Amino acid sequence: MVLPALSTLDDDLLLSILHFSTAPDLARCRAVCRSLSQQADVDALWERHCLDESLQRNGSARPTSRTYCSWRQTWLDSRCEGCGRTYMVKINLDGGSSSASTWHGAKVPLCKACALRSLFCYRTSASDGVAESMLPRLARRYAPLGQFVVRICGRNMDGMVKELGLVREYEQFVEGEKRLTDLFASGARRSSQQMM
Ligand SMILES: [Zn+2]
Repeated sequence: MVLPALSTLDDDLLLSILHFSTAPDLARCRAVCRSLSQQADVDALWERHCLDESLQRNGSARPTSRTYCSWRQTWLDSRCEGCGRTYMVKINLDGGSSSASTWHGAKVPLCKACALRSLFCYRTSASDGVAESMLPRLARRYAPLGQFVVRICGRNMDGMVKELGLVREYEQFVEGEKRLTDLFASGARRSSQQMM
């Protein structure tokens, strides 16, 4: 409702307002109309968001260069495929008989939390439903094989856990998941006792 109204504002005023927008809001502005999209593309707006997340430009700063990369593209390239935050690790989907041919060369950028979730799905052999519910966005992106991709990410990340210094954090994650499962189980027990 607010976004279309923004496009009626004077350019300078609009730019001042967009300066306070979050990066996801800027991305949304691009879908509203051409004039708003042009203002939301002003690279200085994206530069601030990239620098806030300590992102280096993904290529040359010279627009005429073959390797030119805008700050907006830099920000988009650094998104986690599970949740949209800044990624921590890119996980190769190659390896294994089916994945090698299906996703040859594909890499999945994941943030720390999403990488731990995929590892959990792999190590616990989580069912398709659980894998999809833990990383719904990633599962949707690779649908109808999304649940495999979630577990393949976990499998290929398994050997990197020590290297990334995530051993303790993974243990804490599993502990939290166990508590949550126990909580649901006790809730289910209580409600079935009440029904009896
Ligand atoms: Zn994530």
